[in-house]
Amino acid sequence: MTVQVETFPVPPLGCNCSILYSETTQSAIVIDPGGMEKEILEKLKKRNFKLTHILHTHAHFDHCLGTSEIASHHESASICLHREDLFLYEKLEMQCNMFGIHYSSGQIREVTHFLEDEEEIDFGIKSGIKVIFTPGHTPGSTCFYLNLEDKKILFSGDTLFNGSIGRTDLWGGDSTKIIKSIENRLFTLEEETLVIPGHGEFTKIYREKRTNPFFV
Ligand SMILES: [Zn+2]
Ligand SMILES: [Zn+2]
Repeated sequence: MTVQVETFPVPPLGCNCSILYSETTQSAIVIDPGGMEKEILEKLKKRNFKLTHILHTHAHFDHCLGTSEIASHHESASICLHREDLFLYEKLEMQCNMFGIHYSSGQIREVTHFLEDEEEIDFGIKSGIKVIFTPGHTPGSTCFYLNLEDKKILFSGDTLFNGSIGRTDLWGGDSTKIIKSIENRLFTLEEETLVIPGHGEFTKIYREKRTNPFFV
């Protein structure tokens, strides 16, 4: 039994959204649905997937604008976020205004589950998805680590990028914390782990340890 992963960038800012699913149980998780909610819903419907969780690496608008629409079609799915980012989730409209994007907070669905560091996300199978708390880009930034025998993937949000790290000049960002989070929590993962960042090209842990200009 394994977990399949499909990742695609979504507008408005090209956030990498991922769908994780098991063909055996037909259950699925969506990570960071920043947009293209209609297409995501269609993908889930086409294969008759039962959505169990909507996970957010953090609450910047480009990672959660599609959340409410998707959740309204999947009432039993948990909407998951770290508590420290709730203030951002509640200010989605303000965030959008600052970036000139139209969004009405009347549509917002409440967070139903607060993520804890080291928590395992159970989506109907022994999934091996673990929450890693990595504050810095935002106060409540988290990464998700899929740790299977044949597959090790880190969904690093806007904490770690291919050749870069997340900005820390926005609401609650902290440049000391993001470096610590990456060094202590991400660079200690298995070197061969595939990194799917919140934006841009995929990378590997060993590659970032050796070549990322913020660390070498
Ligand atoms: Zn961000
Ligand atoms: Zn982003």
